[in-house]
Amino acid sequence: MIKSVCTYCGVGCEIGFNGKGIVPLQDGVVSKGKLCIKGKFGYQFVNHPDRIKGALVKEDLLKEFNYKPQDFKRWKGNFRKVPYEVAYKITAHKLKEIKERYGRRSLAAIGGARTSCESGYLFQKFAREVFGTPHVDNCARICHAPSLKGLRETVGEGAASAPFDEIYRAEFIFVIGSNTTEAHPIVSHRIIEKAREGTPLAVVDVREIGLFKFAKYPVTLPLESNLLFLNALARVIVERGLYDREFVSKRISNFEEFKEKILKDPTTKPELFRKLPGYEGVTEQIYSLAEEISKRKTVFLWGLGVTEHIDGSQSVMAIANLALLTGNVGKEGTGLIPLRGQNNVQGACDVGVLPYYLPDYKKPEEIGYMTPDIIEGALRGEIKALWVMGEDIAHVHPNLNKIERALRKIDFLVVNELFPCRITEFADVIFGVKSAYEKVGVYINAERRMHLSKPLFESSLPDDWEVIAGVSKEFGHDFGFKKSEDVWNSLRKEAPVRFGDATYKLLEENFLNAPQWPVKGNGGTEILHKDSFPTKSGKASLKFNPYRIRGMVEELFKKGKLESFYLTTGRNLVHYNNANQTNRCSTLRKFKTFQEDVLYMNPEDAEKLGHPERVILESKYGRSSPLPVEENPHIKRGTLFTTFHHSKSEINRLFGDEADELVKTARFKSVKVKIVKT
Ligand code: SF4
Repeated sequence: MIKSVCTYCGVGCEIGFNGKGIVPLQDGVVSKGKLCIKGKFGYQFVNHPDRIKGALVKEDLLKEFNYKPQDFKRWKGNFRKVPYEVAYKITAHKLKEIKERYGRRSLAAIGGARTSCESGYLFQKFAREVFGTPHVDNCARICHAPSLKGLRETVGEGAASAPFDEIYRAEFIFVIGSNTTEAHPIVSHRIIEKAREGTPLAVVDVREIGLFKFAKYPVTLPLESNLLFLNALARVIVERGLYDREFVSKRISNFEEFKEKILKDPTTKPELFRKLPGYEGVTEQIYSLAEEISKRKTVFLWGLGVTEHIDGSQSVMAIANLALLTGNVGKEGTGLIPLRGQNNVQGACDVGVLPYYLPDYKKPEEIGYMTPDIIEGALRGEIKALWVMGEDIAHVHPNLNKIERALRKIDFLVVNELFPCRITEFADVIFGVKSAYEKVGVYINAERRMHLSKPLFESSLPDDWEVIAGVSKEFGHDFGFKKSEDVWNSLRKEAPVRFGDATYKLLEENFLNAPQWPVKGNGGTEILHKDSFPTKSGKASLKFNPYRIRGMVEELFKKGKLESFYLTTGRNLVHYNNANQTNRCSTLRKFKTFQEDVLYMNPEDAEKLGHPERVILESKYGRSSPLPVEENPHIKRGTLFTTFHHSKSEINRLFGDEADELVKTARFKSVKVKIVKT
């Protein structure tokens, strides 16, 4: 039995491969012997005939370097399949030429979060140390960058403070902006199990999601009300003196200042919601929730329903405020747990694939561009070369019309990918690489747990890090790494705080109970912040951010009714990201309902529109394709929901540049749309 880790969501379930298929591992500390459908069948893409099995170079580029295209086998379009060494040489020379002509800031590097820590680490190291550019980013930019920011600003560390198992020890569970049953199924099992045993559960969302059935406090809010709601909750805790006095006095640096600000701000009054449509019952729920989280050990969990907003980082701070006020952090049965999307988002950030941090969150001398600024830089003609590793920015990012313009303008685009997808259409060089199920590497899940993944299948393709090393050697810098363990050991030296003691041997020997960073000696750290916070004073800070009214909330507050439609997007159980892998798994494809993105609409809205079968959505940024409509009573009037998995739906053309004000994570959770009937 080969022991490895699921390549999909940030839960990071342990998997076993018995030669025929994937089986759950009973003793896995994360999976507890269970896997969701992606975990069980999501490996089938590995041998799909569409796999990019080689290095592909555009014919024109081959000619530019005096190769005859006809000497190489034709791939799709005007690509030829060439030996990797040829592609390394061409890529390195092209990058050198661009650097000499336009300077070291002319390259940008965008890494994915589904490749290993080793690859992410070497990617940023090549960009920064070999090419010399500061422009390094990863796909946390469109998901959990606000969690990193919000947590660092309050508790000093941008990661989950506790393991998922704290859910078992909690007396109250608070879930906000996370459709856990679909997006993080194995975590939802823990929540449901506890709720069935009688632990009170609060679920706050814009739709009546799967977890609502188990919630003592099911709270539905109009789109973009999170910060409004969370601030009101904090106000009640402060105003009614429900906070943990001992914790507040010993562990928090600025309670009085926070108290003054929150009590002064009129938008924090829970009575504000009392007569507003869309907020029925919310005022009473706030009073009850304030009591519950103040008297019970509470675990807070959130997902992209919190982060993908203009005030995503601020809402994460607001969740942290609640945990801090009530002493629900740094102790058993408590915790702050952001549910990460991809299986190595945490790792990609930890190893420095960010414009503002080096490995171990050390500060770089020069801060680079975040992805939206890279796109702007390309449009201005400042970014001339782009290397994208495992992230289809021409599908999963917002404002696709703009991204396409930028990609067309770039002189040289290198892409590492498993399958042809939107971004490969713009590439000059494509490197087919090993998938997670074909290589050795470390992946860090949403609870900071480090799994050393083992290959389930053999592959002659290079790992991402080997491609980077190959190009680097031609560029004039030989890293000298022979195997992924060498890369990991180099990272350990550069990130001693978290990974110093985390040898491959330790990770391998403890695979089923893998340590959580920081690793000290032979063990990990399950709960952070037990005695102090990693801040200068050792204390945490409360951060009050006033709510600014906008979008759907503005219509409700100012007009008292809703006249427009607002779209919010998310994920479904079967698919992952751009569905590039899951669409190529025969068992997952059997689910007819998941073969296209479906638009969910309240039945009363549908009736008004004459029960359309398909509609096109239009925003000020672009149009979707015709989407099948499903009427669903669990969605509020005026709210529309769909997924973005299938490129043909063109959902992300509807979103623009509006983004989190601090870290530019796209506002995927709300855009005003018109419905065009087909
Ligand atoms: Fe994989 Fe996530 Fe499902 Fe676990 S919950 S099996 S990590 S997709």
